[in-house]
Amino acid sequence: MSTYYDIQDGRAYVIQCFESRPFFDCGLKFRIARMYGIDSWIEPATRELMKRGILELTTDVANNVGFETYHTIIETKTRIGDLRTGMAFVPLPLNEDLGCTQKKKCCSSWETQWWVIIAPHILHPEAPISGFWLRIELEGSKLPGVCNGCQSGTVRAMNEKGFFDKEDGLIEEGVAKVKARYGHASLAQPTLS
Ligand SMILES: [Zn+2]
Repeated sequence: MSTYYDIQDGRAYVIQCFESRPFFDCGLKFRIARMYGIDSWIEPATRELMKRGILELTTDVANNVGFETYHTIIETKTRIGDLRTGMAFVPLPLNEDLGCTQKKKCCSSWETQWWVIIAPHILHPEAPISGFWLRIELEGSKLPGVCNGCQSGTVRAMNEKGFFDKEDGLIEEGVAKVKARYGHASLAQPTLS
């Protein structure tokens, strides 16, 4: 009503009431954002939806966000899954430190620790580690059998190659796609398929 009659105070009050609800579902939030032109809700709702597991992306979510957004969310999550599998599948080579006195041991230990620690973290079915936290872990804890110089040089090289940022890049791409489509939400009822 406030939107229809352009009553800004009333509109702001209603938006604030919704935002303060502790369990305001992000799919519903997306739908309301599109219906009432609340542009500022599109991005946070999309980010929240991208954090959900595939099984939580129900038909209710699909109905609330519309076919194209639903597809973008599933596409992004699938690309992230493929990326993680690809990242974990082939151990990155050790960046040997010039001052290292045990290069062979560092190389074989790095490969072992890749399969024992790094790959399982990346592929964990319930709590896969983000690139950000993987970097923090590798910078803050010593891998058995790998000297400090080799480990820090390798993590630095991984960082420079964007190894830890790839997943965030995919999320940003997906969010940008949704924002470009609905950044200027209209008063029209969402066209749902
Ligand atoms: Zn070394």
